[in-house]
Amino acid sequence: MRKISLLITLLFICLLSCSKDSGEDPIKAIDRSANLKGPGESANEILSDSKYKNMIIEIAYVAGYAPTESAISELKSLLEERTHKEKISVIKKELASPGKDSISINEVFELEKENRTVYNDGDTLGMYIYFSDASSDSDKPEEDLVTLGAVYKNTSMVIYEATIRRLAKNSLLISTADVEAATLSHEAGHLLGLVDLGSPSVNPHQDPDAPSHCNEGNCLMRAELQFGSGMAKMLAAKRGSSPGFGVECIKDLRANGGK
Ligand SMILES: [Zn+2]
Ligand SMILES: [Zn+2]
Repeated sequence: MRKISLLITLLFICLLSCSKDSGEDPIKAIDRSANLKGPGESANEILSDSKYKNMIIEIAYVAGYAPTESAISELKSLLEERTHKEKISVIKKELASPGKDSISINEVFELEKENRTVYNDGDTLGMYIYFSDASSDSDKPEEDLVTLGAVYKNTSMVIYEATIRRLAKNSLLISTADVEAATLSHEAGHLLGLVDLGSPSVNPHQDPDAPSHCNEGNCLMRAELQFGSGMAKMLAAKRGSSPGFGVECIKDLRANGGK
C-alpha cells in the first residue's frame, strides 16, 4: 500500500515537473511587440523582403459582415504587385458582434487584443483587418462625413463594413465589392507608409490640408476617399474601378523597398 502511494506521489511529481519544463506558456510565446507600432512605421518591412519574406493577412469579421471574395483578392493582388513578398496568404475568423451601433478606435484595438491570432512570426509578417458591424464613432452623417476605414497600428486596420454596405445600397452605380476593394487598398496604402507616413515622399505631394494624403489627381490616396461621399463620387465616375496609386505614391513605395 505504501509502495503504491509512494509510486503515485513520484509519478505526480514527475508529471508536474515535466509539464513545467517542456510546456511553454502559449500566451507568453507570442511576441506582439513588433505589431504594436504606429501606422506606417513598418512600411519598409511590409514593402521589402529584408526582414519578412511572407505575409499572412487575418480577416476577422463580425458574423454576417464578411467582405466579398473579390475585394480580398484585389487587396492581395495590390500587395503582390507592390511588395516583395514570396507568399501572401489569407485566413478568416468569424467573430460575434460587440453589439454596438458605433465604435471607437480604442474599442477596436481592445477587440483586436482579444481576437487576433496572427502576429509577426519568423520570416512571416502578420496583418490584421477587422470588418466591423458598427460605424466609426467619429462619423458625422449630418455633414455627409462617414468613415469607411482606418489604420490604427503598423499592421492593423478596421473596415466599417456596415457603413460600406449602406453606401453601396444607395447607389446603382457602385457595388459593395467596389467600395470594399477601394477602401482596403486606400488603408493598405497608409500601412505601406503613404503619404509621408513611413515612406518619405520622393517629391513633395502631401495634401497640405490632409496629412498622410496625396494631392495628385486620380490617386487612391486622396483624402476624400476615406469618406463615403468622396468614395461614392469617385467610384461612380469610374464605373466602380478604383484609380490605384498615382505616379508619386508609387515612386515613394519603390524608394522604400517596394515595387
Ligand atoms: Zn486615408
Ligand atoms: Zn498619390
